[in-house]
Amino acid sequence: MTEFDVIIVGGGPAGSSCAWQLRRRGIQCLILDKASFPRLKLCAGWITPEVVADLEMDVTAYPHRFLTFDVTQVHLYGLNFKMRSPQHSIRRYEFDDWLLQRSGAPVIQHNVKHIAQHGGRFVIDDSYTCDYLIGAGGSSCAVYRALFRAANPRARLLQVVALEHEFAYKWTDGGCHLWFFDKGLPGYSWYVPKKAGYLNLGVGAIAERLKRKGQHVGTHWDRFVAMLRTRELIADALELSPQGYSYYLRDRIDINRIGNAFLIGDAAGLATRDMAEGIGPAVRSGILAANAIADGVDYDPSAIPAYSLPPSLQRKALEYLLLRPRAASTA
Ligand SMILES: Cc1cc2nc3c(=O)[nH]c(=O)nc-3n(C[C@H](O)[C@H](O)[C@H](O)COP(=O)(O)OP(=O)(O)OC[C@H]3O[C@@H](n4cnc5c(N)ncnc54)[C@H](O)[C@@H]3O)c2cc1C
Repeated sequence: MTEFDVIIVGGGPAGSSCAWQLRRRGIQCLILDKASFPRLKLCAGWITPEVVADLEMDVTAYPHRFLTFDVTQVHLYGLNFKMRSPQHSIRRYEFDDWLLQRSGAPVIQHNVKHIAQHGGRFVIDDSYTCDYLIGAGGSSCAVYRALFRAANPRARLLQVVALEHEFAYKWTDGGCHLWFFDKGLPGYSWYVPKKAGYLNLGVGAIAERLKRKGQHVGTHWDRFVAMLRTRELIADALELSPQGYSYYLRDRIDINRIGNAFLIGDAAGLATRDMAEGIGPAVRSGILAANAIADGVDYDPSAIPAYSLPPSLQRKALEYLLLRPRAASTA
């Protein structure tokens, strides 16, 4: 049996940030991840200056692709405008591996299946044991399933479904573009260039709203790609094969800690309610959970912003247009 004070299930941004902070606080931990890093993670790879600050990143020393956009090109109901707030793009394939290595924590490739509790300790697959268990396994986290699902069911109306493809491409338009609610999409599509010839395209939407409209995200993807071709943002001959993934937007803060078990990142469903931004909340929740263990204090995810945009009319409108049927359905 391998013993650690803390075991973290999942080595994405949530798990690696938690490990990084735990180790800085002098606490040893082990990361178990079913994937071998570097691994593919479907994601546009857009990060905010807050993420850079939380991770104390020296971007000039970051060894991989990192691109800064001073403005985002927003397309909404036929109108085009520039949103002025600096953002960055990274490739998750590179970024997550870099974060994991930087954490300095030992990592074992292991697909966690079974979690039991014996004598106040957690036992994972009869092979690993710990005092503190961190669930950082993303939307299908094994810790969530074993310990939290009954107490904290997911709000299905906040489920986002997304199709995405990232590939080597000599883009000519180096701007970051977002198309909101195009052709009735309950969400947005994106064109996010990466430094040195990579491009990320995707479509994300509220799954339940798509279903109610009798729409499929794949149809929106096809329309989106056709639109990019018409605008000559991508070549006609380019063949694309997007993959799908789903995760959850932030609900009210429910139960994300039971005794010495914690949920962080997508396992806790912390993506922002306006932009579906999940990397920042994953990083912040990982650091908060580590501090809660190190200081013996509460783990309070309410310190993680539920919105990407500052309080404004745009933010209210965006949240309303994304999540409007939820209110109707609960009424
Ligand atoms: C298409 C798409 C685009 C997105 N774009 C953005 C964006 O541009 N910006 C942004 O901020 N957010 C974005 N998000 C959200 C963001 O990707 C997630 O919120 C973020 O990855 C959450 O990090 P995490 O560490 O919680 O989970 P993950 O990054 O999913 O990491 C979880 C880890 O757990 C491991 N794991 C899972 N199950 C097990 C198991 N049983 N045993 C062991 N290991 C396990 C996995 O292998 C994985 O490495 C996007 C999401 C999607 C789907």
